[in-house]
Amino acid sequence: MPTVTDAPWHIVRQSSIHNLGVFAVRDIPKGTRILDYRGHKITKAESTRRGNAQLDESAVTGEGAVYLFVLNKRYDIDGNVPWNDARLINHTCNPNCEAQIIRGTIWLIALRDIPEGTELGFNYGFDLETWEDHPCRCGSKNCIGYIVGKEYWPRLRRLLKKRQAAAASLAAPDPEDEASQASASRKRALKGVGKKDKATSGK
Ligand SMILES: [Zn+2]
Repeated sequence: MPTVTDAPWHIVRQSSIHNLGVFAVRDIPKGTRILDYRGHKITKAESTRRGNAQLDESAVTGEGAVYLFVLNKRYDIDGNVPWNDARLINHTCNPNCEAQIIRGTIWLIALRDIPEGTELGFNYGFDLETWEDHPCRCGSKNCIGYIVGKEYWPRLRRLLKKRQAAAASLAAPDPEDEASQASASRKRALKGVGKKDKATSGK
């Protein structure tokens, strides 16, 4: 007979943040390994290739779908597989779990006690390079407006302030300028690799 702890802590269902989400199916104590981030183990070169392909697709579909996680120096995990429920966990600026690599497994760990029925969320930890491509709609009181690792928040706040001030004082920009800015920003986006940074810092 299975013990209580063999039963899953989570369930997948419709989220108010974005499409599907992952929810606590029962009360989860702080520190629990809730579920692991599953997928294919791939080399860094393959990871870069897939990351760019996923970004290209998300540019077409409008979905922010990059599922690559740093596992170690040599390998990443591509979690874009149907048996990886953790890929459906939404980003939030007010996370109740975080990704940690424990003996080669990427675990989502409860940062606090999580009551049954609560949606799980973690900070994807994207770096500042591609912040404009990832607006955040998590709805948290402390939402900073973009999907960016917390360590970059002070810099992002300064950037946003500067931009606000510039927008207030500037007339319409030169169209040629705008075009070159757009292509530069696309190039930066292609270098981005999604959740990888989070997993690295959780190590
Ligand atoms: Zn947010």
